[in-house]
Formats: sequence, C-alpha cells, structure tokens
Amino acid sequence: MAGVCDATNGAGRSNAPTLGWDSSADCWSVTNICSPSTALSSISLASESPYGNAFETRSSSILVFFEHNHDGDIYPVSLESLSIARVIADQLNGHLYAVIIGKDLRAACEELHHYRIDKIFAADNPACSENQPESIATVLTQITEDVQPRLVVMGDTLLSQDIAPRVAFTLNASLATACSNIYVDSHSIAPQQLVFTKPIYSGNVVAEFTSVSNIALATLRSKAFMPAKRMASANGDLITVDVNIKPKQFLTKIREVVDDKEDNNLDQAEVVISGGRGVGNAEGFSLLNDLAAVLGGVVGSSRPPVDYGWMPPSSLIGQSGNTIAPKLYIAVGISGAIQHLMGMVSSRIIVAINKSQDADIFDVAHYGIIGDYAQIVPVLIERIKKLKQSKGLL
Ligand SMILES: Cc1cc2nc3c(=O)[nH]c(=O)nc-3n(C[C@H](O)[C@H](O)[C@H](O)COP(=O)(O)OP(=O)(O)OC[C@H]3O[C@@H](n4cnc5c(N)ncnc54)[C@H](O)[C@@H]3O)c2cc1C
Repeated sequence: MAGVCDATNGAGRSNAPTLGWDSSADCWSVTNICSPSTALSSISLASESPYGNAFETRSSSILVFFEHNHDGDIYPVSLESLSIARVIADQLNGHLYAVIIGKDLRAACEELHHYRIDKIFAADNPACSENQPESIATVLTQITEDVQPRLVVMGDTLLSQDIAPRVAFTLNASLATACSNIYVDSHSIAPQQLVFTKPIYSGNVVAEFTSVSNIALATLRSKAFMPAKRMASANGDLITVDVNIKPKQFLTKIREVVDDKEDNNLDQAEVVISGGRGVGNAEGFSLLNDLAAVLGGVVGSSRPPVDYGWMPPSSLIGQSGNTIAPKLYIAVGISGAIQHLMGMVSSRIIVAINKSQDADIFDVAHYGIIGDYAQIVPVLIERIKKLKQSKGLL
C-alpha cells in the first residue's frame, strides 16, 4: 500500500497519510505511506486522527509495542510478543502493526522491516528518549487511538509495567499483565473472544481473563513464546509519527540514566547455574562462578542468597525475579519451591544437585545428582575441562 508522499491533508500538514477504502483488498487502507526505500510520510499527534472514524466496527488488527536500545537492537521479549501477535492477527484475519518510540530509530526501523509486519509506526523524537514513561505513554496512547487495534501487546518489562496502565487508563481499555499466553476462543458467545492466561497464586492456578473493552492491552512474560523469525528480505510500510509533546508538561523528569553494573544478562544466557540456600555462603558462589566459566554461562540464585546479601537482587530467579528459559539450568542447593520453579521451569534441560533425595526440584529435573555440592561441583568442573580439552575447545 505504498503511495505518493506529496499529499496535504485537511489540517494543512503535508505528507500525511490519508485513509480510504481499498476495494481490491476489501479493507480500509492508508495511502501516502512510503516503502522503506523512499522518503517517509508522517502522521501528526497534534490534532485529530488522520484515520477519521473509519474503524467503526470492531477492529481485528494487533499493535505490538517494540522496546529497543539506541544501537538499533530490538529487545528479545518484543520479538517474542511479535510472534504470538502474528498468530492472533492471522487467526482474526487482521493486520499486524508495530510501534516504536524513542530517539535515533533508523537502525531499529531497518531491523523491523525484516519481520512480517504490515506497518511500522515510528515516533522518532528526543522528547521520547531515555524511556521517559509519560512521553512514551502519551505517544502510544495517541497511536492506539488512531489505529484502533483490537489488541496492543508488549513484553512485561519495567518500562511496559510503567506505561501500559497509563495507556489503558486513558483509553478506558482492559489490561492483562504478565500473561503466559493469549488465544482466540472460537467457541465463546462473543465472536473470536481473546483469552489471556497467566499463573496466579504463586503459580498454583492458571487464570483466564477476557476483555470487556473494545481495545485490550496485554504484557507478555519473557520466554513465554519463541521469538519471531527474521526474514532476509525487507517489507512492511514505515509511517513516521510527528510527536508534538512538551516535556515540561510531564511530572517526572529523568535526571540521569545509570547503567546497571550488576546486569548479568540472565534472560539472554543459554546456560544458567543457580545457587540456593544450600550453597551456604557467598564464598560458595565462587565455585558456581567457576562452573559457569567453563560452561560459558552466568550465575543466578534463589531468594535466600539475595536476602542474605550473597548475591545481587538482579540474580533472583522466580516469581519475584527473572523468568528465564535457558538451554541448560543447573540448580545447586535449591529445594524447588513453587515460587522458584515459576522462573525456570521452562528451561530446556534442568539439572539438580541437592543433598536431599526428597527435594522437590527433582520432580522437574531431567537429571539429578544427590550429594554435597561442594564435592560434586569441583568434579564436574574437572570433567568438563577434560572433555573440552579432548575436543580442542580449551
Ligand atoms: C511471595 C513470595 C515470593 C517469592 N519469590 C521467590 C522467587 O522469586 N524466587 C525464589 O527462589 N524464591 C522465592 N520465594 C521463596 C520461596 O518460597 C522459597 O523459600 C525459596 O525459593 C527457597 O530457596 P532455596 O531452595 O534456596 O532454599 P531452601 O528451601 O532452604 O532449600 C535449600 C536446599 O539446599 C539443599 N542443600 C543444603 N545443603 C546442601 C549442600 N551442601 N549440597 C547440596 N544441596 C544442599 C537442601 O537439601 C535444600 O533442598 C518467594 C516466597 C514468597 C512467599
């Protein structure tokens, strides 16, 4: 649906997309949208919706909010959100739109063109830098109002926990947080009802929610879905969004952004070695660090080591911390409480080392070693080193 970019809309702005009925596609379509290779058209947030009241019937389109760093890297949880959004959009026979907000978005937008997205709305403005929640929520609200999607999805991150309630409140929309799944219920009384599932009561119950509003928002747990597949070819229309907001009107002011030195990339790691109360003290974790080093992994922990100050809060895995699904998870001196399992039970291979054969962790472990970790871990390190040497990997 790429079109020419020289139109002027009723408000006197040039290059604004206009909405019209596309009889060939049997749907409403926006013209004056440029393909990635051409100059960008824009929509303005300053006045009325460029889409008018066209979406009068219930929309079946899905909007995915993308988080990114300023080097153009899209967060994995956004690509996971895209993957379930694509499934739902296909089931509803609707369009899939992306929204990306921030500063210096060119690289991120170029990357987004490599995914199956129908349109990319990009709000590239210094006022939206540094993840200022009020400005991002304002822009996301306006795009959502303009597009009128059935569903807005985003990863369950610190930023989305901040902006999703703001957007939902402003639009009087439903919000389901930290969902583990979304599906279309074709048997419900309401046609193609969306159902949101999430574990509640410490993971003992899986609850299902439906939305009562026309637009629903959902945040999705990390690793609940496989990331969307990247394509070699570029596609999808890019729409630049003119941001006309005044930072002064916001109550929060970002004075400084401090890098989290303790950020251990737990959610990206393919191998995680986790220690629990059974590790005994902070020194015990240096043995786990050695094991992580030979396996190319990172070290996490259950709650007691964080409470005792042996490990930083960012290392916590479970209900109150990180949810991860590495290829290999080694639980050392961890009993397997439900609050811990919630954060790691989706790991591909789980190995448990525990001196008690009755520990609950063995119920979810694929491999178990019964004994004192202080004797087992050094042997494991030696064996792995020898194996790597024999294969020329060390
Ligand atoms: C609201 C709420 C939220 C919570 N959120 C989280 C969360 O996010 N993450 C989390 O982890 N917990 C969380 N908890 C705490 C959780 O309920 C458990 O108390 C905690 O996970 C237990 O940690 P652990 O397995 O390390 O310790 P323990 O349950 O004390 O288990 C220690 C284990 O180490 C073994 N062991 C002891 N010595 C050795 C040795 N030398 N070698 C080998 N094994 C040994 C023991 O046999 C035992 O199985 C939460 C609790 C509540 C109420």
